Amino acid sequence: MNVMTIVGARPQFIKAAPLCAELTSRGHKNVFVHTGQHYDYSLSKVFFDELQIPEPDYNLEIGPLSPVKQISGMMNSLETILITEKPTCALVFGDTNSTLAASLAAMKCEIPIIHIEGGERNFTRDMKIVPATTIPEESNRVLVDHISSVIFCASKRAVENLAREAITDNVLWAGDISLDTYSLISQIPSNKSDILERLNIRSGEFALATVHRAINTDIPERLVEILKGLSKSEIPVIFPIHPRTRKVMVESNLFSRFTQSSNLRIVDPVGYFDMLALEKNARIIITDSGGVIREAFFSKVPSVIVDETTEWIDLVQTGWSRLVGADSQKICEYIHLLKKPENWEPVLGDGTARKKIVSYLENWSHK
Ligand code: UDP
Repeated sequence: MNVMTIVGARPQFIKAAPLCAELTSRGHKNVFVHTGQHYDYSLSKVFFDELQIPEPDYNLEIGPLSPVKQISGMMNSLETILITEKPTCALVFGDTNSTLAASLAAMKCEIPIIHIEGGERNFTRDMKIVPATTIPEESNRVLVDHISSVIFCASKRAVENLAREAITDNVLWAGDISLDTYSLISQIPSNKSDILERLNIRSGEFALATVHRAINTDIPERLVEILKGLSKSEIPVIFPIHPRTRKVMVESNLFSRFTQSSNLRIVDPVGYFDMLALEKNARIIITDSGGVIREAFFSKVPSVIVDETTEWIDLVQTGWSRLVGADSQKICEYIHLLKKPENWEPVLGDGTARKKIVSYLENWSHK
């Protein structure tokens, strides 16, 4: 096969790493395109270095633009690349603007789209509880699924969601590709991190928090509520801050208000090795990140989701995650009270999604 993999954001570099390695090891050509949606060292290059992802063949260097300018700019550049490279298929991941732009460009160039981590839904489009602009991921997911030729799902629930939207052909439950990365990296002993020593924290005696979704950063009252909850914690809360959240906090003068005389410790975004060490050793994880919720589950650490809905509803139903919205009281309560459930079931597969995906595509491309 002659595949084109198109990525642009932190979680996509992490998910692409094992899949690209699998494609290469089976002798497939893989043209690797980075849109440049995430571009600074801590959100991009560090993952290429740590996860040994090859240098991109193309970097569109799109940078920080409005969503419309970003998507149209990416599509513009991708058209030329797709026409030049003529791949068998375009591989896209998840739900970012890069996913949507790459899919629209591939569709218009008549290149089949392969959507990895398709079918997940949080149903916010139906609920209309928040303006659509604050839930771009859900719209991106729905649009991409409806123009994809093959969809690989992380959960069985995603397969059912797609069936409800009459998408049943070439849909496969492969399991979560981020579990492949998590498991592979966890097996390499040399990839140990010393972040606990550097931050002077002890295993099981701290909380980890991440907040970056537009619903929590673009609505200032929500961010303030979340920070209020975190800053009341009796144990240290390590908060690797996303640049988008940092920008809002700087502009709204929230830094000193919440970090002075509190256990909230804001640090720069960390690399993947450090993040895994923090996740595996945290007593509890508070997050709005789809990736971090799942890695908390893989680490058997309970998590609090600072959102009203989640596409990872299986994790809520198994008791490993709690939806608390942006409620400072509940956030603070759960940091201290949330316990591990007794049972853990592999609802997101067994960490071999990369093999199932490539095997399926090999058969599909020969049809
Ligand atoms: N992550 C990281 N360092 C950080 C924060 C997150 O390596 O400081 C990783 C995390 O382990 C997970 C991924 O980034 O694999 C999640 O990305 P993000 O939260 O940006 O996006 P989402 O998953 O919500 O789409």
